[in-house]
This record gives sequence, C-alpha cells and structure tokens, in this order.
Amino acid sequence: MKNSHVLLIPYPAQGHVIPLIEVAGYLTANDIKVTYVNTENTHKRITSVWSENDHGSSDLMKMVSIPDGIEPSDDRNDLGKLTETMSRVMPSKLEELIKGINNNSVSGDDNITCIIADYCMGWVSKVAKKMGIRLATFCAGSAALLASFLSVQTLFEDGVIDNNGVPLKKQIVHLSTTMPAMDPSNFTWACMGDAATNKILFNIIVLECKKAAEVADRIICNSTMELEPGAYTLFPKMLPVGPLLATNRSTKQTGHFWNEDSTCLTWLDQQPVGSVIYVAFGSYTIFDQPQFEELALGLEVTNKPFLWVVRPGVNGSTNYVYPNGYMERVGARGKVVPWAPQQEVLKHPSVACFMSHCGWNSTMEGVSNGVQFLCWPYFADQFLNATYICDMWKTGLGLKKDDIGRVTRGEIESTVEELLGNNIVKENALNWKQKVFDSVQKGNTSHKNLNNFIDWIKEENGIANA
Ligand code: UDP
Repeated sequence: MKNSHVLLIPYPAQGHVIPLIEVAGYLTANDIKVTYVNTENTHKRITSVWSENDHGSSDLMKMVSIPDGIEPSDDRNDLGKLTETMSRVMPSKLEELIKGINNNSVSGDDNITCIIADYCMGWVSKVAKKMGIRLATFCAGSAALLASFLSVQTLFEDGVIDNNGVPLKKQIVHLSTTMPAMDPSNFTWACMGDAATNKILFNIIVLECKKAAEVADRIICNSTMELEPGAYTLFPKMLPVGPLLATNRSTKQTGHFWNEDSTCLTWLDQQPVGSVIYVAFGSYTIFDQPQFEELALGLEVTNKPFLWVVRPGVNGSTNYVYPNGYMERVGARGKVVPWAPQQEVLKHPSVACFMSHCGWNSTMEGVSNGVQFLCWPYFADQFLNATYICDMWKTGLGLKKDDIGRVTRGEIESTVEELLGNNIVKENALNWKQKVFDSVQKGNTSHKNLNNFIDWIKEENGIANA
C-alpha cells in the first residue's frame, strides 16, 4: 500500500525552522513519513549543534538539503538578496529532489504525496502544481500577519499602500473590528530593512505568499482561535493548530542554529520562584553598543536576578563590550548565555517576566507559560505581536524609546517595577496560559484542526481511519 510521505520546507530562519520541525514531530508521531528540506546553509548550522537526543524524534523523518543559490562571498543576512535568489534558484533544485525521491520509490509507494511549505516560500506552490502534488501552507507567524498579506489588494484599492507595499496613509488600519490596530508604517513588509529590501520582500514574500495561500489545499497556523478570533473569522481557510511547542509533546525543542547553554537551567533552579527577568531577542535583533550598555545597566538597576541571552554575532563572535566592572558588580545575580533552551526556560517557575523582541514563536512560548512580557519589538511582524500582547491580551507592557530612539536604563527599571507590581497583567497572563493549554486538549479547536489535517494527509492514500 502507498504510504503518506510529506515534504516540509521552511524559510531558512530560526523562527521558521523550529515550529516546522514541530509539525514534522506531529506527523511522524502519526506514522507519516517526512522529508524535511533545509537550505544547505541551514542544514549545516542545525546538524553542527544537533545532539544525539535530537535524533530521537523519529526514524520516519529524514533531513535533506538543497542549495539556496547564495555564493560564499554573499551576505545571507541581506534578506532581500537571499529571498530573491532562493525564489530563482530553488524551484528547479526542489523539483530535482522530488523526482529523485520518487524515482527511488519502489512502485511509487514512497512518492511525495503532499508538500507543507512555509508561508514565506510562496514559490513552492508552482513546483507543487507542476508536479501534481497536494499543497498546504504553514504560517509560522500570527494569523493576523497572514491576514495582512492576504489583504494587500484591499489595502492597495483603499489607497493605504502603493503597489510595492509602501504605506501612503498615516491612519490606523483595522482589517476587521476584532483584529489588532495596525499602523501602516509597521506593516511587516514596510519594516524589514531599507526601501529596496522592503520592495523585494513585498513582491517575493507577500505577493507570492498570497498566491500560494489562495491555491493551497490547506492553511495551518501556529496560534489558537481564542488568541486571534478576528483573523480566523476574516479568513476561515486559515486553521489554528497551535501552539506547536515541543514542551506540549514532552519532547525537546530542536532545530537550533546555536548551541544551547543548559547551565542556565541549573542557575534558574537556584533562584526564588517568580523572581527572574528572562531577556532574549530571538535570532535577528542587533543592538548598537550604546543600546547594549544601556540594557546592561538597566538590568543592573532593577536589582532582580536576570538571565540574558547575548547571541554571538554573525561571525560567531560576541562583539559587545560590557560596562566597566559590570560582571563583577552583578555577580551571580546575572547569568549571561549565548543561546538558551528557551522553551524550558520559560516553563521554569523561577521566571517572572520575559523581556522580548516579540517574535511570534517567543510570543507563543511566553503566552503558553503564563509569562508576563516586556515588549521591545525590533522589526518585521514584531510590532504587530507587541500590539497583541500589550493591547489585546494585556499580558505585558511596552518599553518606550526616548527622543534618540533608545530604551534607557531608567525606562527599564520603572517598567520592570510597574509590570511586576501589576496583578492584573499577571492574572491575564495566567488566564491566557489556561486558554491556550485548553485549545490543544482533545476535542478543542487546535487539537481537532490538527487531527483533521493529519487525516487529510492520510486520506489521499486511503489509510485515514484504517
Ligand atoms: N530561541 C532559543 N534560545 C534562545 C533564543 C531563542 O531557543 O536563546 C528560540 C525560541 O524559543 C524561538 C526561536 O528561537 O522558538 C526564535 O523565534 P522567534 O519567532 O521568537 O524570533 P526570531 O528569531 O524569528 O526573530
């Protein structure tokens, strides 16, 4: 009998790779074979820090790679160039890979039966169509973000943006009355980089994502109906299946680009319950040296224990300089690591709050653990996610920038104090934790949607409900 064999392909960024590996985990747990396709660069990064335990996921999952087309001398942090090159080079590589898999499959039993493509890899839909393979889109961001991508035609017709996504109006936009307010200058595609980068990303990511989502057989999103009712009502084709967290399946979060420093868990064990400020800004955020120092001094003046992820720079080095005598002054009260096992950290009872850039995964991980947020968005969809946290769910407070665009040590000190003294925010965070937990329990929305999705994957092969 023919097996289900699903090909998964993430956008090559940390916040896209981790949740799609979670999707793979659910598939293999349901006896579905998975081929997980990274770019060669991502593959190298993941496998170089991949531990024995990570292989424990399943024999049904195979990780393979194809080139992204970027030359060794080119800069992969130039997202415009990376995205444009991938959309040009990768389709034929993907097609070759699928042909190779199908040619090796005995009487077609192992042929690829379905592709699940990241929403930022819209070009994959053309390969799926050409090869007659069913397609699902996976949204690693919020449903509201995808809803904004799907609304660009309306935004254009209403004169809110031009045909390259450039905001034309200052007015606040509500895609629906129950969705977060959106400031057009904070539309994801308008704050990715310089004007040229924004234009490329609008045309390749946003417009191609819209086309792919329209032709995809299914769209699944890493959030819950309760967190984002407005977006799911506006586009009922999008189905919440989240939050997709390794900790929900009692497994370890995998797919890291950096080595996790687990000594922070032992350090957390030694701190009082609900006392620690966890500080992490995901995989892209970069501070200039003065901002870095101000943050360091801000953490110092809070007088609270803190766990701070200071990620190595792009070259593998940490270029920041700490203020004079800093490490001696904070001593054991401060723990600095290059990369943390974040899901385990956020689950730890010692953590009081999460100073975060509000990447969508960090947002879901914080909400799932009932952690209060100090929001410090940096770029892309992070402003939208911060709006959810501060204005819709009311589980955190925003850190304000001064006249020169810097968050001062005084702002950090007073906002931490305000947050930790605010019982309403704490209560909200605990309420959301419960609601989000409920959504993945048997019979509830995310659980049902995920099971239906898995049944749909199996159906093609006549093995659903077998
Ligand atoms: N993460 C981690 N350790 C860290 C910092 C981040 O494991 O020290 C993980 C985090 O749990 C999340 C992902 O990296 O799953 C970052 O994704 P997110 O969407 O929050 O931010 P991005 O990196 O895309 O800006």
